[in-house]
Amino acid sequence: MKVTLIPVTPFQQNCSIVVCETTGRAVVVDPGGDVERIISAVGQLEVSVDKVLLTHGHLDHCGGAKALADHYGVEIHGPHAEDAFWIEQLPAQSKRFGFGEAQAFTPDRWLQDGDSVQFGDETMEVYHCPGHTPGHVIFFSRVNRVALVGDVLFAGSIGRTDFPRGNHSDLVRSVKEKLWPLGDDVTFVPGHGPTSTFGHERRTNPFVADRMTA
Ligand SMILES: [Zn+2]
Ligand SMILES: [Zn+2]
Repeated sequence: MKVTLIPVTPFQQNCSIVVCETTGRAVVVDPGGDVERIISAVGQLEVSVDKVLLTHGHLDHCGGAKALADHYGVEIHGPHAEDAFWIEQLPAQSKRFGFGEAQAFTPDRWLQDGDSVQFGDETMEVYHCPGHTPGHVIFFSRVNRVALVGDVLFAGSIGRTDFPRGNHSDLVRSVKEKLWPLGDDVTFVPGHGPTSTFGHERRTNPFVADRMTA
């Protein structure tokens, strides 16, 4: 499995193209915008897109989902249904932040804790991690030891919880009870900024290090 990051939108959100290298099948996770750039990166990788996956309903993560899914004729999977109220606001939010056209949509499949998503020979497990948004999910490849965590956890920080239905203690619980058990060796791709490992964050993260939350 290979992950290519493409920072998109004025928020420099990490859109990920995740490729099964044995079959050339791929998923695009969190195409927040800059759809033409994502399409050209997919073209350069010479892979075929299986589906679009979403971690949560924020504009910078799913503003380009409908356009990209329509371009490839594929389905949109995720986030959890609790984020429907965010997705419904996409066109209004897009106007407000000057992002251009973001189309509203209904995902073909809402995801839940314990679900999995497949492409080629790869499987990613789905974990429901509320706090930043109530319907936030993360994707985890157990074989490759890689997690795509959206805005749950960042290198040295955690997601904001000052949005409608955000909840700080839910977020800390999601990190401790859903992410940490996956293993200290797991490399994670956050929604913004550089990658890190769960083990490094457990030692050093000022919000969720073991010594802060024990
Ligand atoms: Zn977000
Ligand atoms: Zn974000």
